Amino acid sequence: MSLRDRLNKLFNASGRPDQAGRYHIVQVRCKRCGEILSARIDLLNDLSPDYDAHTFHARKLVSGSGENRCFQVIELEIAFDQNKRVLEQRAAGAEIVTST
Ligand SMILES: [Zn+2]
Repeated sequence: MSLRDRLNKLFNASGRPDQAGRYHIVQVRCKRCGEILSARIDLLNDLSPDYDAHTFHARKLVSGSGENRCFQVIELEIAFDQNKRVLEQRAAGAEIVTST
C-alpha cells in the first residue's frame, strides 16, 4: 500500500459521506487470465493537467489478486476533458468492461 493510499484511507475514515462523483471507477478484464480487476481514479488527486490541451490525464497500474497465478500488471491510461469527463481510455493487457 502506498503512502497516498494510506493517507486516503485515513481521510476516508474521518468520514465525509459525500464522495459521490469524486471517483472514476474502471473495471477491466485481464487478457491473460480473465480476472476482473477494478481501478479507482481519484479525480481530485490522481489527474495530471495538460495545460496546453486543457485536459487531464491519469495513469494507473493494476495487478491481479494472484488467485489465478497471473501477475500481469495492467496499465490503464485515461484522458479527461476540463470538466473531468472521460475523453478516451485504454488498458494495456486488458479489456475495459465498465467505466463509470
Ligand atoms: Zn491476469
